[in-house]
Amino acid sequence: MLNSDIKFLKGVGPKRAVKLNKLEIYKIEDLFYHFPLKYEDRRSVKNISDVVPNTNVLIKVRMNGMPTFRRINKKMNITKIIASDTTGTITLTFFNQRFIKDKLNEKDYFFLFGKCKMNMSSLEMVNPEVELVSESIKAGRIMPVYPLTSSLSNNELTKLVIQCFKENYNAVKNILPDYIIKKYGLFDRRDALRYLHFPPNGHKYKIAKKTIAFEKLLVLEIGLLSIRAGLNVSKEGIIQTDTSLSKRVISSLPYNLTGAQLRVFEEIENDMKQNKPMNRLVQGDVGSGKTIVAILAMLISVASGYQASMMAPTEILAFQHYQTITEYLNNSGIDVKIEFLSGSTTKKKKAEILKKIKSHEIDILVGTHALIEKDVEFSNIGLTITDEQHRFGVRQRAMLSNKGKNIDVLVMTATPIPRTLALMIYGDLDISIIDEMPPNRQKIITKVIDKKQKGEAFDFIKKQILEGRQAYIVAPLIEESESMELDSAYNIYETLKQEYFSDLNLGLLHGKMSSREKDEIMDKFYNAEIDVLVSTTVIEVGVNVPNSVVMMILNAERFGLAQLHQLRGRVGRGEYQSYCILVNESKSKISKNRMQVMTKSDNGFMIAEEDLKIRGPGDFFGSRQHGVEKYDIQNLIQDIEVVKNVQIITKEILNENPYLYGDDFVLLRQNVSQLFDKEKIVFN
Ligand code: ADP
Ligand code: MG
Repeated sequence: MLNSDIKFLKGVGPKRAVKLNKLEIYKIEDLFYHFPLKYEDRRSVKNISDVVPNTNVLIKVRMNGMPTFRRINKKMNITKIIASDTTGTITLTFFNQRFIKDKLNEKDYFFLFGKCKMNMSSLEMVNPEVELVSESIKAGRIMPVYPLTSSLSNNELTKLVIQCFKENYNAVKNILPDYIIKKYGLFDRRDALRYLHFPPNGHKYKIAKKTIAFEKLLVLEIGLLSIRAGLNVSKEGIIQTDTSLSKRVISSLPYNLTGAQLRVFEEIENDMKQNKPMNRLVQGDVGSGKTIVAILAMLISVASGYQASMMAPTEILAFQHYQTITEYLNNSGIDVKIEFLSGSTTKKKKAEILKKIKSHEIDILVGTHALIEKDVEFSNIGLTITDEQHRFGVRQRAMLSNKGKNIDVLVMTATPIPRTLALMIYGDLDISIIDEMPPNRQKIITKVIDKKQKGEAFDFIKKQILEGRQAYIVAPLIEESESMELDSAYNIYETLKQEYFSDLNLGLLHGKMSSREKDEIMDKFYNAEIDVLVSTTVIEVGVNVPNSVVMMILNAERFGLAQLHQLRGRVGRGEYQSYCILVNESKSKISKNRMQVMTKSDNGFMIAEEDLKIRGPGDFFGSRQHGVEKYDIQNLIQDIEVVKNVQIITKEILNENPYLYGDDFVLLRQNVSQLFDKEKIVFN
């Protein structure tokens, strides 16, 4: 049974089950969907004379004589032996494999797999994988390399996957209706899964991948569109019509709203008037002015006698919203009670807020995830807003909207999604787009540099600081990781403090800090007590420090273009000329092209379209969590055609058979319900 607990698979048991759980493998089915990160091609056996150094190869050899064993110290020993085939010889070196010598019998043939190096003028392999030819399972195949936890080896996992197929291959039934499999030339699900783990060749691998992408997308899409159908038809919503407070704020603004802001506000106003719940997404580039639109919407609720809430993904951002809203309200002399709630709100304060929320002494509540918690009970909430939607899942949004009955829901995102994909990814929402920037925005100068030019860039930053400005330096990771030579925020911070910027004030910000620590650092940065803020991407969303004019991004090639664009949007917010420096540490052509896009365009939607062309649609799906990300949907979907086809099929199915009746749809229906169980999709 695919649904049985993984501990019942032969060879697993309770102990290994715990390790597998760490990889989010709980059921047999989860193991099938734990796809390899990459593959090792062991299909052909190479002659030693043909080996190209520094590549992985498979060779077939016999041992020449006995190995030598040397003990270096308590922690290290080395076994060395010469092996040969008919074309040449190679030295094998094994570290800390004491007992390997017992295995290396002179009479036997062995497969060796690993990287060959030139050592002096002879070939050497260090710690190759050794298989007796007579017992080999890996040679002659393409083998999977899995994402692992430290306590489970790739070999162990591979064996379990093989076992899993042995026991359950026949139990794997198609989720996709058969007619779709035929029409699009896909595989049966069991073969698709098998070929994703053990591809016989590139062609079959591709079709396998396409099949699973189809399957995942179809489940997702049917779910999203069904939610939308359900929301729009059956439920009675709240009618909120009073725009008097919004109008007062508009007239007290120090600027005129852009045409796009006005249009989107009108769309929202229209939705809120209706007696069915609003479910609207506002997409607008960084700096396009979404916050004020959100405030105006909340004020419709307040004026109409309801409460409103606004949730943001980080404490920094949430608090900033709180301050902005307070300021707008003060400027227009409107008496609206607003409070801020987050994980770091003190117990006493929290109790007070909860009480006032329940008794409607608070009109607007702004905060972080803390807003979703059970104990937050509104007296009568009319609208919830989620900022930077891509950081939250559908489920979290659903939880927020469950704080009231059929309330209006507005979500906002600065991650531009190309039009072709928006419908797919946000199938359950109506979409408004703020496609116009406020006037007089200055252009940010964007430069791509390579590793060697980093020094110059630091000099440039220093010059800016001496003129009174501030700067961000963003690095992809927190701690140095052994496997990847990425600049970690911490390392960069330490190095810069000692070298380039020893006479400046440096700050470090990363996701592992407590919110109090983060706030402290951000406060200091706001107040210019910190000149250069070294950070991971926690500053990505929404942060607003107008005096900061340089955004330098290390390992920029590792980021999605939409993300780079958002990071770039942190500067150019004040009166000073601003700069974005992208350090591209990759030599690949794709990276170069992607970085070029950043220098050529400052339009988020265009950038997203380009990223779609260069990298394919997968990344965009990663930007919204559906609970499917575990299945690596990003990696599966590499082809916009799949997305388009699924879009067409979904519409067909929902038109002809919205409740998914019939044998062909049983599993599809089950899977949709499972994926969206919290959203309560009911097929009657
Ligand atoms: P985002 O869409 O990225 O959330 P914000 O709402 O933070 O953008 O707005 C960015 C800045 O632009 C803020 O300082 C805001 O006051 C300002 N702003 C918003 N709308 C306008 C406008 N119509 N004219 C001028 N400035 C505006
Ligand atoms: Mg914003």
